[in-house]
Amino acid sequence: MKRRQVVKAMLSGALLAGLPIPLTTARAALSNPRQPLRAKRHQRDVAIIGAGIAGLSAGYFLRDLDVVLLEAEQSVGGRSLTGQMGDRTFSKGAQYITSLNGALGQIITDLGLDPVEIPGQVDAIYRKGKVFIGEDEILQMFSDRGDLAALDHFLDTLSEISRHYGNVPDHRQDSLVGRLDRQTAREWLNALRLPPVYPRVLNNLARRASGANLDELSALGLMPILFALFKQTLADMNTDDQARVESGNYTFDGGLNQVNINLANMLGDRIRFNSAVIQLEKLSDGLGYRILYADGSGEGRWVEAKTVIFTSPAPMIMRIAAQLFPSEVLNLLDQVRYAPAITVGLYGSSPIYSPAFDLSLSDRTFITDIYDACRLSRLDNPDVRTGAVSSVIIPAERFRDSYFMHLSDRAILSRVHKELEVVLPGSSDRILDWSVQRFSHAFPVTTLGAFRRLSALHGFMESGSPLQLAGDYTIYPSFDLAAESGYLAAMRLRRLLGHTTA
Ligand SMILES: Cc1cc2nc3c(=O)[nH]c(=O)nc-3n(C[C@H](O)[C@H](O)[C@H](O)COP(=O)(O)OP(=O)(O)OC[C@H]3O[C@@H](n4cnc5c(N)ncnc54)[C@H](O)[C@@H]3O)c2cc1C
Repeated sequence: MKRRQVVKAMLSGALLAGLPIPLTTARAALSNPRQPLRAKRHQRDVAIIGAGIAGLSAGYFLRDLDVVLLEAEQSVGGRSLTGQMGDRTFSKGAQYITSLNGALGQIITDLGLDPVEIPGQVDAIYRKGKVFIGEDEILQMFSDRGDLAALDHFLDTLSEISRHYGNVPDHRQDSLVGRLDRQTAREWLNALRLPPVYPRVLNNLARRASGANLDELSALGLMPILFALFKQTLADMNTDDQARVESGNYTFDGGLNQVNINLANMLGDRIRFNSAVIQLEKLSDGLGYRILYADGSGEGRWVEAKTVIFTSPAPMIMRIAAQLFPSEVLNLLDQVRYAPAITVGLYGSSPIYSPAFDLSLSDRTFITDIYDACRLSRLDNPDVRTGAVSSVIIPAERFRDSYFMHLSDRAILSRVHKELEVVLPGSSDRILDWSVQRFSHAFPVTTLGAFRRLSALHGFMESGSPLQLAGDYTIYPSFDLAAESGYLAAMRLRRLLGHTTA
């Protein structure tokens, strides 16, 4: 029997699991449901599913082994992909990194990339018709009724937590970190008895950064957002040195995707694009896995590998490989919740809002932010007037809501126009072009107990399993930590395969 027919037969299993498979392949697969399997014995050391930053980072740290990366799309990037409008490259997903350390730092140095510092995540807040720019004005906004005692108490508490945050994951019942993992962000704010401006403003910041609101996010999940918002203040409180701290946020001329593209160029034909993995099974001799994927034309293909790293979203792993994991791991994967989000790039002759990088619209509900999505290339070339891309983020009001993902592009744009007109009248007339990007699995949400669950998952991955999980749902959801998770998975497999040095 021809290899393609064998693979087509296997596709029927994936069909039943509800995965999208092109019709021609599906029909052929169904007409041949019970063909015997014949193993092909070229076995890779590692197969990596997904070429976002987690998969690429894993591939990079395994590049001396026989490794293959299978990516469903026709290019790399995942949630850090970039788009093009006019002459401008702009980020459609992730904008900036908050650390140059760890695995990502090593990749940046090794590849000779040149990160550039950009302002803080949210460096301006719009509230009730006024804009507050920079940390000092934002602090004033929080104490606008003169409630300095509440602000003081809030900052003291935050500063105390920041000193323990390095202890994550410390999930003991009585530890500070453990308690924050088990209460919602709103419960924590309520317990501090803060004026209503705090939860109102922070709710939109939480939605923007994590896809979840204050009732859904754990207090621990809110902390990185608060640490970033009050970075300078916390630094002043924790040290005697009053020097300006760096924003700690960096990007590249071509956006974060520049890291992905450079990694992809380095990995070359180890990456197979248009290769959506649809099923995995253990080989009958128990030594390795057969990984079935559909290529761009819908043909079924497969590779064999001794070990596998999954970086696709948790629900996808449950669909393609549930039978390979112990029930405790499946139970943990099943608890990962994703928030959807949309970003809209808005092209015009100049940015819609330029005094700050990221303006949080604290009293709007549809869009939560407007940011200068090509700021670097604009500021680097002030004389080149090739237009500008501003972007808005549209997260869910509750992370389980996905209705807005089904709105047409025009309906989305019309709502964006309406909200922009309230905040910056006349701005929507300046929009010449737009680009809508939907992310169905935008953010794995840091719900109650998420950090405790992450520790349990970590335990499984440290146990010497040939199946490794990486990606931002296995760690805190950010670009640099997704890179770290890929590195960690790679190192565990190096140990397992007996290749401890690169
Ligand atoms: C709107 C938005 C803004 C963000 N902003 C920031 C930010 O400013 N800073 C920051 O640090 N983080 C930000 N993030 C988070 C950051 O983008 C992610 O944490 C990070 O990119 C996750 O990388 P990953 O490799 O885990 O996943 P992904 O980037 O999603 O990569 C997974 C890859 O797997 C592929 N795949 C999926 N299923 C299959 C399959 N069956 N077969 C083959 N391939 C498959 C996908 O096509 C994708 O390429 C943002 C996220 C969003 C959505």
